[in-house]
Amino acid sequence: MPDTAFQPTRPLPYGRQNITDADVAAVTAALHADYLTQGPRVAEFEKQFAAYVGAQYAVAVSNGTAALHLCALALNVQPGQRVITTPLTFSASANCVRYCGGEVHFADIDPATGLIDLHKVRTLLEAHPKGHFTGLIPVDFAGLAVDMEAARQLADEFGLWIIEDSCHAPGGFFMDSQGREQRCGNGRFADLAIFSFHPVKHIATGEGGMITTNSEPLYHHLLRLRTHGITRDPADLVHESDGGWYMEMQELGYNYRLPDLNCALGLSQLARADEGLSRRRQAAARYDAAFAQVPGVTVLAPGRPGHAYHLYVIEVADRKGLYDFLKTRQIFAQVHYIPVHRMPYYEGLGWRAGDFPLVEEYYAHCLSIPLFPTLTDEEQDYVVACIIEFLSVEG
Ligand SMILES: *Cc1c(COP(=O)(O)O)cnc(C)c1O
Repeated sequence: MPDTAFQPTRPLPYGRQNITDADVAAVTAALHADYLTQGPRVAEFEKQFAAYVGAQYAVAVSNGTAALHLCALALNVQPGQRVITTPLTFSASANCVRYCGGEVHFADIDPATGLIDLHKVRTLLEAHPKGHFTGLIPVDFAGLAVDMEAARQLADEFGLWIIEDSCHAPGGFFMDSQGREQRCGNGRFADLAIFSFHPVKHIATGEGGMITTNSEPLYHHLLRLRTHGITRDPADLVHESDGGWYMEMQELGYNYRLPDLNCALGLSQLARADEGLSRRRQAAARYDAAFAQVPGVTVLAPGRPGHAYHLYVIEVADRKGLYDFLKTRQIFAQVHYIPVHRMPYYEGLGWRAGDFPLVEEYYAHCLSIPLFPTLTDEEQDYVVACIIEFLSVEG
């Protein structure tokens, strides 16, 4: 019998950061160093993160949303250009297109994974002349990797660029057609990939984000856009240098830099990323085994290889009832996501309820339950027991 006698000593949110003494020491050392903003830890974090995901280049930025914005700028999204993304994501995945005046279009999900259905993307592309759409933004939802090889083939066929939103999936991978593991954001298939270091994600820097790519020209452009559009590189100057201070602002850029302080935390966290990832996978396997015995609970894509488990998602008939019940037991589940096209802002752009029925059906039943590296077995069993208790009361 599940044990409900156990009382957790802390509230259980769906996700939580893991800050260790080593992290604190790393940030303290950075505070005592010479440069609080653009010190040596920025480039070091970029180098180590690129190596972690298997990409050639990485650009650290102030958050995941800034990463998306810079990607849209670097890919030269223009007013009126049409870009396809998934309705099952955080709005920021779509908003980056709007920042540049582009139009956001959606393709419905595959309900077995929650990922954008590439067959539906193809149908949408084929319904219009080539050139109608300019880009694709797939999202590695919950930590499940999109088949980027298939996405790349489709993109090449229709002349699209790809931004892979990998905020949920550092360390996640899919198996390619040769049976090889392809890590999310490794730059093999997507033009650009982005990550977030918000505390609820795998790696925390406070606020923070990263762009990865294998494209040298895009990499250099991103570096310039991140710092006001300024360059100091003698090879790139338009005018002759006036002296050692000389720099040029060559295009409209932003201040989207990630401080040295935050990179110190990022480096320290990155050193434990694999440990955190395997803890997430272990805990997910325990949930999978428990819920296999519970009729009334459907697990999203259980046991899929490469899953990075940012979220552990279950689907139940009475989602609102379960959400409210768990709250009374100090379990703070969350819903990911209200479909983007149902946001009033996007409804204002013409999207309506019923436009994407599969994601709307998914939204009606989904719940993300606690999953993070420091979640204990007892806490996990308590979560399972509370869910079973709710379902048995519901009858
Ligand atoms: C968290 C997240 C973002 C935005 O990242 P921030 O660092 O919070 O700006 C974008 N896309 C997805 C899928 C996310 O989960």
